[in-house]
Amino acid sequence: MTETHFSAFQDVNQKITQAGEILKIKPGVISALTSCEREVVISIPLRRGNDVQVLTGYRVQHSSARGPRKGGIRFHQDVDLDEIRALASLMTWKTALVDLPFGGAKGGVAVDASTLSDIEKEEIIRRWTRSLVHVLGHHRDIPAPDMGTDARTMAWLMDEFHRLEGFQPACVTGKPIELFGAPGREEATGRGVAMIASETLKQHDVKVKGATVAIQGFGNVGRYAALVCHELGMKVIAISDVTGGIFDKKGIDITKIFDVPSLKDVESDNRIGSSEVLEIECNVLIPAALGGVINSENVSNINADFIVEGANQPITFEADKELRGQGVVIVPDILANSGGVMGSYFEWTQNIQEFSWPVEKFRRELDARMEKAFNNVLKVSRKHSVDMRTAAFVVSVDRVAHAFELRGSLV
Ligand code: NAD
Repeated sequence: MTETHFSAFQDVNQKITQAGEILKIKPGVISALTSCEREVVISIPLRRGNDVQVLTGYRVQHSSARGPRKGGIRFHQDVDLDEIRALASLMTWKTALVDLPFGGAKGGVAVDASTLSDIEKEEIIRRWTRSLVHVLGHHRDIPAPDMGTDARTMAWLMDEFHRLEGFQPACVTGKPIELFGAPGREEATGRGVAMIASETLKQHDVKVKGATVAIQGFGNVGRYAALVCHELGMKVIAISDVTGGIFDKKGIDITKIFDVPSLKDVESDNRIGSSEVLEIECNVLIPAALGGVINSENVSNINADFIVEGANQPITFEADKELRGQGVVIVPDILANSGGVMGSYFEWTQNIQEFSWPVEKFRRELDARMEKAFNNVLKVSRKHSVDMRTAAFVVSVDRVAHAFELRGSLV
């Protein structure tokens, strides 16, 4: 099969355009929605031995039509402007889809996080924050963790922001619980992915208990998705990370491996490769690591009935078309992994109110809102006879276009 090569940003934009056509939105408004409001590129000189290595950092703000921009920061060697634009845009559609009062943004640094010491990581995030402080803030743009960054990184970001601008814990989400983080936020993305997997099975009359699941990624998203799938009675039969993976058709006891730093530390008679997990026969496949992992090379080997996108953009345009043609049901990233930004919203509101929720309330709110968003996408997909990804974009593009026009902030 020949692959149509869209860049990551073009890929998102063609989905916005398609939704715009269904909704009969004016072409000028679609051009605004397929552009980013602001893009800042910085250089970060990092001391390395006796020399200096200059890293490139980014913050792209896609839209503020529905509220302050919101989106994570990624430390990964493949980060570039196109990818950050695509991810910033996806945040706009994700926050609109689950009806949060936010716009979309994304940040990143092109660096292999696995090669960094803690001190280097801290220096990079502090420099990133100093260079971008003028565009950040709890009512302007609120970062959060993404690949290669975590709660600790967010604590350093918050501390640097406070030194420059004064106390404002809502300037960043995904913080440690001891430092204004919200109990429940760390697990929120993976929990949401698992809840959506369970709703998808129910909608298609497949029993949740005993349904088989394969997961790529054992970081924040994959680990909690695996744990909650396990708690809901599903059988996680395969899981992998960058070091490789494990397979057990009787089901892996996730509670036993949850705390291992990496899957290479798990003893197993059935080791599989990092990508092999994608080709395992199962009910639900959850890609929860990198983008573009299901593509023209491996699409014909995919053996799942349902794919729930934990990662952002894990399926290329052509592979998506082919899978849908084969009857595979795909729950798109902007719905499936929206539990993360929803959890960030709960943390942000608690920080602003200086009031903390018990974790049970956090989980209840998250589960109810995820279910509501899922049912709404299903309803719209039936109304327009389109797949769930198109339906999700129809819902969110409608909301953002409406807000954009109501604001009337045209020059
Ligand atoms: P993370 O850095 O915590 O974990 C990434 C995982 O992917 C690790 O287990 C790593 O070993 C694995 N991995 C990397 N390369 C791999 C490869 N080639 N094969 C198999 N596994 C590989 O990142 P995360 O926060 O879990 O994010 C994962 C994905 O989910 C990203 O696409 C991210 O944008 C998306 N996402 C994250 C959140 C969040 O709240 N963390 C929210 C929404 C979406």
